[in-house]
Amino acid sequence: MRLDEITHTARSNYLCACCGMTVPGGSRYVRAQVPGGGLVAKKPMHTACYTRRAASNTNMEKAHERNI
Ligand SMILES: [Zn+2]
Repeated sequence: MRLDEITHTARSNYLCACCGMTVPGGSRYVRAQVPGGGLVAKKPMHTACYTRRAASNTNMEKAHERNI
């Protein structure tokens, strides 16, 4: 899936599900599926975080996801 097909413009401030920093309102972000707790939720994250996550899907990052 191409990144520019799944980016959205933030209507308010969000928290990035990847790095925990603010996604400021008006900026572009990715709403991506984040598995956890038996349900798959779609959570906002920075486009940079999303591409970095997709590029390196390590065990450490999976462990981080479980803590969200
Ligand atoms: Zn982020």
